Amino acid sequence: MSPYTHYPVIIIGGAPAGSGAALFLGKHKIKHLVLEKATFPRDKICGDGLTPKVLHVLKKFDENMGAHFLQNAHFNGSFGGVVTAPNGKVAEFVLTSPGAKQAYAPLWVCKRKDFDAFLHTFFLPAYTTCQYAAVVNEIHRSEQDDKIIVTYTYKGQTEKVSCDILIGADGDRSIVKKTFAPQKKDPAHYCASIRTYFSGIKNLHEQKYMEFLFLEGLMPGYFWIFPLPDGTANVGIGMMSDYVSKHKINLRETFLKLIATHPDLKERFSDAKMLGNIAGWGIPMGSKLGTLAGKGFMLTGDAASLVDPASGEGVGNALYSGMLAADAAKLALEKRDFSEAFFHQHYTKRVKRTMGGELKFSTYLQYACEYPRLINWFINKAPKNVLLMDTLKVIFDNEIMGKRLRNPMFYVRLIAGFWR
Ligand SMILES: Cc1cc2nc3c(=O)[nH]c(=O)nc-3n(C[C@H](O)[C@H](O)[C@H](O)COP(=O)(O)OP(=O)(O)OC[C@H]3O[C@@H](n4cnc5c(N)ncnc54)[C@H](O)[C@@H]3O)c2cc1C
Repeated sequence: MSPYTHYPVIIIGGAPAGSGAALFLGKHKIKHLVLEKATFPRDKICGDGLTPKVLHVLKKFDENMGAHFLQNAHFNGSFGGVVTAPNGKVAEFVLTSPGAKQAYAPLWVCKRKDFDAFLHTFFLPAYTTCQYAAVVNEIHRSEQDDKIIVTYTYKGQTEKVSCDILIGADGDRSIVKKTFAPQKKDPAHYCASIRTYFSGIKNLHEQKYMEFLFLEGLMPGYFWIFPLPDGTANVGIGMMSDYVSKHKINLRETFLKLIATHPDLKERFSDAKMLGNIAGWGIPMGSKLGTLAGKGFMLTGDAASLVDPASGEGVGNALYSGMLAADAAKLALEKRDFSEAFFHQHYTKRVKRTMGGELKFSTYLQYACEYPRLINWFINKAPKNVLLMDTLKVIFDNEIMGKRLRNPMFYVRLIAGFWR
């Protein structure tokens, strides 16, 4: 018997990956503990953009999730986006017409401070115990009974708990990854990124579409403007880390210079006011996947490097992998099998099957973004070419991308689009 309070499952981290796992473990009626070092609501450096996959996963938990988004004043729903090429050409895409096939917007923008706290309101108290301000600082396996022992600090005290299954949802600097599957950081698969908030930006899209700008002076990388419901916007840039260090680029200076001088931005930001500071963080891209699971543990979200390499969007895959980890945990507890082989079979393989194709496709897109002339050509042609416009939509709707990539006709159509 473990001398510590024992849980079938412990999740470290209570952001999208941890919340996804907690929501679905609750749905499976499995008791678990979430250890989260912050106290919510808290700020999190992010673009705050939510792609269709986010609602897709959350609807599996609660089919009324679209209505919950809509009724929440912190969410801005948008039915499309705007992409600007380095030569200034613009392509606007509509993912779903309002009121058409689906009732709710496919794209949303919500500050992570509000979104992460919103997810916690759906935790089922009968199954989820969430301990805030709990900093996990050590993990080991008990020699007596093979349980995983988690040591954390809470209000200056050291606490210990044990579990059969540990879910690492603790982000890029995951202590679960460091303990069970240490991997060297590879700058070729990392994106350096900064963001801040602005009020008073001119000419935001009248339907508050999300904007993605590929700008001269910021290649290979992109600039985003994601409008929030209160008229302010999350604004930031991202660029591959190896390129940043090779060319000694100061992202903050580049960002401020673009806003002050770039012809597509200068006038729009002339009366804008920066709200708060410019904050940065590294994004672990899914162009290279490491160990995703092993004996008694699974890694989810950024801890598993599941961020889309082309768009830098990681919230959808964080939620999705959390859901898959909860499914695998349920099965493992039923079979009392916590072996590496079991989690490889029921978690790693499932993650690769559901996300591997789109991560690979996005890796190629990321390489393509190194060629400004290719983007110019694509954005110039897309508005007049149904096949290319369709491809553009697929890029931003990773929900349909997954299905398309499994259909050989997608590639035929794509090539046909290029030749027309
Ligand atoms: C500048 C920037 C812009 C981005 N823009 C977007 C975007 O627009 N859309 C999008 O989808 N994605 C975006 N991303 C990526 C996105 O932010 C991440 O993919 C997402 O946050 C991953 O969620 P997660 O739950 O895996 O990890 P995280 O959000 O990193 O959460 C990890 C959690 O674990 C907790 N934790 C960590 N260590 C411990 C510990 N030792 N003990 C207890 N708790 C711990 C942390 O407090 C945190 O709450 C962006 C990232 C950056 C940096």
